[in-house]
Amino acid sequence: MEDIVGLCKRRGFIFQSSEIYGGYNGFYDYGPLGVELRNNIKQAWWRDFVQRRDDMEGLDSTIIMHPKIWKASGHVDGFSDPMVDCKESKLRYRADQLFFAPVIVEGEKIGYVSVVESIDQQEVAEKAAAEMKRKMAKQGELGPIELKEYTEAAPEEYELIPSPATGKPGSLTEPREFKLMFETKVGPLADDSATAYLRPETAQGIFANYKNIVDTGRVKIPFGIAQIGKAFRNEITPRNFIFRSREFEQMEIEYFIAPSADWKALHREWIDTCTDWLVSIGLPREGITEDIHPEDKLAFYSQATTDLMFDFPHGEQELWGIACRSDYDLKQHQEHSGKSMTIFDEATKEKYVPHVIEPSLGVDRTLLAVLTAAYTEDEVPNDKGKVEKRTVMKFSPKIAPVKAAIFPLLKNKPELVEVAEKLYKKLQRRWNVFYDASGAIGRRYRRQDEIGTPYGITIDFDTVEKDGTVTLRDRDTCEQRRVSEAELIEFLEEQIDG
Ligand code: ATP
Repeated sequence: MEDIVGLCKRRGFIFQSSEIYGGYNGFYDYGPLGVELRNNIKQAWWRDFVQRRDDMEGLDSTIIMHPKIWKASGHVDGFSDPMVDCKESKLRYRADQLFFAPVIVEGEKIGYVSVVESIDQQEVAEKAAAEMKRKMAKQGELGPIELKEYTEAAPEEYELIPSPATGKPGSLTEPREFKLMFETKVGPLADDSATAYLRPETAQGIFANYKNIVDTGRVKIPFGIAQIGKAFRNEITPRNFIFRSREFEQMEIEYFIAPSADWKALHREWIDTCTDWLVSIGLPREGITEDIHPEDKLAFYSQATTDLMFDFPHGEQELWGIACRSDYDLKQHQEHSGKSMTIFDEATKEKYVPHVIEPSLGVDRTLLAVLTAAYTEDEVPNDKGKVEKRTVMKFSPKIAPVKAAIFPLLKNKPELVEVAEKLYKKLQRRWNVFYDASGAIGRRYRRQDEIGTPYGITIDFDTVEKDGTVTLRDRDTCEQRRVSEAELIEFLEEQIDG
């Protein structure tokens, strides 16, 4: 993770928000390359799920909506996480991400250890327990350390469990509910009636517009509505870089189906489609696994949820949630708004409130997954044939921030520069390409490797004196071949837009 964060800052992908004021926890800014990568991910998703499908409509709803929407959806009353405060350090933890265990030596409980969720939490806890035993000079065998979530602690244990911040017991509070929605006031009045919320998900904007879209007459069951947009959650412990932040973006679909449809088969279809899409933008299939939520942990209205998990630097974590939410949301809005949410199914001549499958993906988490998968350190020969270490971002050409770099072999030869600039201008009309004339060609390649530009195009004397062909270099294999301009454009088209 440190390598990725370092490269992101150095090369202008991602910056800590408000850095000149010391940063602002849970907020990130996307720099020149980051915004390209991010836009490319969103465009690829929009193209594949909206424009290239016949059963999907797009939507862009507002971030602030009528507060009644959040009442109907259950967010006003239920959208919170249990949290724990450390009264001494003033740090705040999510209770389901804080773990504790009693330390037992020869059957006697000598104290407690606590750890914040991490890949090596077990190891950290065992070390702390061994240290406690040593400090207290206890003889005998240390019992196994069995970590439990802080939410499972008995009330009498709260003051015995040490705070991870201070290492001492007595400063942790009991778990308390913490509202995740950001509040604001709309209009001139500052009283409670003016309270509104920044949306914590884009999904409700879809449900709120479902009737509008059905009334346009463009859709028939089954169909989906897709939306990309910002979402805000006042996360208690934003962490792991852009994995969990307070302002992020979602790409969500509500796919409406008949109540009698084989939802299990359709759910499976969506899980497969989503997995294939992640692979199509360059994630390794073996890095993606499925986490099927056990039935007893599902919300009462949910029929099934499967999360696509990705092997992030900080462990295997949720990337894409794919939930079967029955007709719960539409029925809630029907009840709260008094407007009918039924649709007439032409095929079966029935009228009903449809059920829904909801694939919900974070743009920022996808970007972190893409950065993780792309980050590679390898060794390649330099100009003089000497093997050198290089850092290379192996982005898929579909989403790479810069698609190709155009280099005149020498910058002081006007005939090379002229042809190179002409080609650059031509390619720039279609793609984000980069022109670089300075430095040794090997160094220029290396700079592009580090930002993940898939293709290097060099204009040399053969180009201007012989046949007009250029050298096309592949970022990953470093192989070079000569191609004509027409071949080059056809190749780029297939790789980038295919
Ligand atoms: P988690 O359990 O990690 O908090 P969640 O189950 O609450 O996530 P959903 O409400 O299902 O997440 O949101 C759908 C998707 O939105 C997630 O799969 C994730 O990709 C993204 N997402 C959710 N919360 C955040 C966040 N704080 N920062 C970045 N992305 C997020």
